[in-house]
Amino acid sequence: MNYLSTRGHPDRKRFCEILLEGLAPDGGLYLPEAYPQVDTATLAKWRALPYAELAFEILSLYIDDIPAADLKAICAKTYTAEVFGTDEIVPLRELEDGVYLEALSNGPTLAFKDMAMQLLGNLFEYELARRGAELNILGATSGDTGSAAEYAMRGKKGVRVFMTSPDGRMSPFQQAQMFSLQDENIHNIAITGVFDDCQDIVKAVSNDLGFKRKYRIGTVNSINWARLLAQVVYYFAGYFQATASNDKPVSFTVPSGNFGNVCAGHVARMMGLPIQTLVVATNENDVLDEFFRTGVYRVRAAVDTHETSSPSMDISKASNFERFVFDLVGRDAAKLRKLFVDDLGLQGSFDLSADPAFKQAAGRFGFRSGRSTHADRLATIRDTDKRFATLVDPHTADGLKAAREQHVPGVPMVVLETALPIKFAATLVEALGAEPARPKKFEGIEALPKRVVKLPADAEAVKAYIAENCD
Ligand SMILES: *Cc1c(COP(=O)(O)O)cnc(C)c1O
Repeated sequence: MNYLSTRGHPDRKRFCEILLEGLAPDGGLYLPEAYPQVDTATLAKWRALPYAELAFEILSLYIDDIPAADLKAICAKTYTAEVFGTDEIVPLRELEDGVYLEALSNGPTLAFKDMAMQLLGNLFEYELARRGAELNILGATSGDTGSAAEYAMRGKKGVRVFMTSPDGRMSPFQQAQMFSLQDENIHNIAITGVFDDCQDIVKAVSNDLGFKRKYRIGTVNSINWARLLAQVVYYFAGYFQATASNDKPVSFTVPSGNFGNVCAGHVARMMGLPIQTLVVATNENDVLDEFFRTGVYRVRAAVDTHETSSPSMDISKASNFERFVFDLVGRDAAKLRKLFVDDLGLQGSFDLSADPAFKQAAGRFGFRSGRSTHADRLATIRDTDKRFATLVDPHTADGLKAAREQHVPGVPMVVLETALPIKFAATLVEALGAEPARPKKFEGIEALPKRVVKLPADAEAVKAYIAENCD
């Protein structure tokens, strides 16, 4: 399997070459040259497999530069009941007639990002050992990504994590999750500033090519193809649980921000999994909902990006969206470049409303969308608690609302549960007047000793800290 860039760069790469990379050299995103096709005989065989073996089968179609036995061992080590809480790994439960929740949030940090990040940690360790190399991961987080990365990389050989976060702005639970890690290869850096300051620092450090090379700086952001690939697996696992045979269509609703999660659903559908509809659920930051309704993709400025009660979906532009648009425009790299380089670069938006390709988004590609507000979120959390005695987190609530709007009787609608409510306790208290129960292993984490340094919002200070801690 070879990988290409959405922007037309002539080079082709293998999986392990792009594993440790971010963007392609021309600024594009990596995609496989073609999506492997899965026929009904294969689906029938896969239906009975435990999650780790299903993951191995799917990953094998995309990874041909890791020996099969090694890849199998990596999958077996990653997807265990010990790490994810159940033998099913992603258990499905029916909420109301035909509407299901797929639990993706029972990993170490209680958000779905663990599903991919845990695999990435093991792949990184494997590949770095093979190369005899080291990697220093530098990131910025407002919560979920940073903690998922730290729990995936803690104690791994060859990897260090330097994670910046805005001082005092994460929830106490999120801070405790990250700062209580005592592993030597994990470095928490609280920046005096806001999340944008953290992101600017990461950009500034990464743009210093000399420093980047000398200290082998890498990232784990959501454009990483391996993360997206890991997420494809749970669409298959959800499908098998929602159906008794492989001729039944199923729809999925996905609380979305950077379009990574739902893009994995698109890939599963392109492989031949019988997905009828993929519903993109957004909050007040509705860049994606606007596109699927109107054909206009209009990125927002920082000042127009709302701070909402489903904060992991607070995005101004969706970094994985380019992958889907590449398929939408028939994999025409010149057309893609016009949209993402010329139009977005010049005017901050592109308009496909009059392009026949746009009709394919809802048609051939099966996309729909929905949008929620804070009031919707609270109403959904209350209603789901009252009618089904089930607590959902604010992001999953955004998904549920959009799912109900798009649900067609007779076609199971699977809503991806992207976090557990305890991570966003303040909104649950606002909706229900009480804190959600917390899993045993997180009792009292706020009182644990914290390992964090405070630095000013200054890239030079962060560089000095990295240099000091890299020997
Ligand atoms: C990251 C995240 C999302 C958004 O996922 P994308 O892949 O960026 O679309 C939604 N909900 C939660 C809880 C998240 O952590």
